[in-house]
Amino acid sequence: MEFNKISPQILDAIKAIAGDDAVLTGQESLEKYSHDETEDLVYYPEVVVKPQTPEQVSALLKLCNENTIPVTPRGAGTGLSGGALPVKGGLLIAMERFNRVLEIDEQNLQATVEPGVVTEEFMNQVAAKGLLYPVDPASKGSCFIGGNISHGSGGPRVVKYGTIREYVLNLQVVLPSGEIIWTGANTLKYASGYNLTQLIIGSEGTLGIVTKIVVKLVPAPTQDALMLASFPANELACAAVSAIFRAGVIPSALEFMERRGVEWVKEHDDIAFDLQDGIEAFLLIEVDGTNQDVIFADCEKINAVLEEYECRDVLFADSSAQKEELWRLRRTMAVSVKSNSVYKEEDTVVPRAALPLLIKGIKETGAKYGFESVCYGHAGDGNLHVNIIKAHMSDEDWNNKLKSGIREIFELTVSLGGTLSGEHGIGLVQKEFMPIKYSDTHFAIWRGIKQVFDPKGILNPGKIF
Ligand SMILES: Cc1cc2nc3c(=O)[nH]c(=O)nc-3n(C[C@H](O)[C@H](O)[C@H](O)COP(=O)(O)OP(=O)(O)OC[C@H]3O[C@@H](n4cnc5c(N)ncnc54)[C@H](O)[C@@H]3O)c2cc1C
Repeated sequence: MEFNKISPQILDAIKAIAGDDAVLTGQESLEKYSHDETEDLVYYPEVVVKPQTPEQVSALLKLCNENTIPVTPRGAGTGLSGGALPVKGGLLIAMERFNRVLEIDEQNLQATVEPGVVTEEFMNQVAAKGLLYPVDPASKGSCFIGGNISHGSGGPRVVKYGTIREYVLNLQVVLPSGEIIWTGANTLKYASGYNLTQLIIGSEGTLGIVTKIVVKLVPAPTQDALMLASFPANELACAAVSAIFRAGVIPSALEFMERRGVEWVKEHDDIAFDLQDGIEAFLLIEVDGTNQDVIFADCEKINAVLEEYECRDVLFADSSAQKEELWRLRRTMAVSVKSNSVYKEEDTVVPRAALPLLIKGIKETGAKYGFESVCYGHAGDGNLHVNIIKAHMSDEDWNNKLKSGIREIFELTVSLGGTLSGEHGIGLVQKEFMPIKYSDTHFAIWRGIKQVFDPKGILNPGKIF
């Protein structure tokens, strides 16, 4: 597709739509929008615009569609697959001014929210009413709920509560033509035609721009328990994960962390935690509910399982401060790894009983190609983030050999019944690996869908496929 540049006349039209103060040009003001959290990738847009209403988004998309100008929607820019990178230049639509929680409907346990609301702020407003919005990515303090929708995001509590897919009831979406639609209804059930809401979730800003979101809420649990279990081997910790479910318990979080990751967080974040010799891996396990006796009974069942898998030690958090400290250990791991080494992060997901084989295979692939890795993630969902560390690898091997190693990791993931990316999306950096899992038929269906929504291909070009 041949795209056009933004001419001075079109720039004037953009300003007329959104207002002069909503438009950024010039290298310095565009810098923030030239990267997200994906490796060290940098792509500059020609112009950034920060609209405030669906009607402004509609007029902007119509203008760009008529003039064949590429458009990249952007949330908070915390994405790890390069989804918000304006790889073809053009107009970047930053959604940061869509930052209002419009309604919390306590009668129906629903909320209507704009896409530029920071996820944690929304969770807090909902919690103040005794309710829970449980989709809590580790980046919840900085990412936007609109970005979460576009990536089909998850987080530690997916294991009990489900991903964002289970919570979105209805979306207001602006199409590349400028038309504004609602995808469904504000109802808990939906059996009227193709489900456009679910199609937009996870579409990574390639089909339309989300401008309003209706989500369901659930009553908040009142009690919880948090424990940190340590293991002498990665595979034992991973094998304990599926055994916990087989013992009849569904934890509200079940996270895996490798020793190296914990060491780096301790150095980076000064977390007080005694890291003993001979420990290779940890499981952070949370159980929640409304009855403390039931929670304790579940913890006992979990403990019995942990013992079977040679767990060395179980630390029970005995105060909310200690719980916060243990969660900080997990939540800051991505940032600590990033600050310690040049790295690449891959997102893998397998049926959870396959986790021991996945981690074993990742380490074997690393040994074969000469790279180290630090793995952590939402083990309860079978979702492992594989951080490949450059460490002593030569620049030549890093640039030339690594890709084959990553390919082998994804081939293993798929052979174990899994797929690429449980939650970070495909974006720019994973798309070359999509044919490992998906056939020409899948690509033909996806291209057909894209054609219907966006015949000129202006919306987030270069992403997913
Ligand atoms: C430290 C750290 C921890 C993380 N932990 C998790 C985790 O636990 N779980 C998880 O799922 N992810 C996690 N992530 C990844 C990232 O935070 C999520 O993918 C998040 O959902 C991205 O939101 P964002 O607002 O930053 O979106 P961006 O990065 O700005 O954009 C992401 C995609 O959404 C599109 N988009 C954004 N807004 C809209 C809109 N309104 N309409 C249409 N398209 C839009 C963009 O074009 C892009 O394709 C983590 C990232 C970091 C840095």
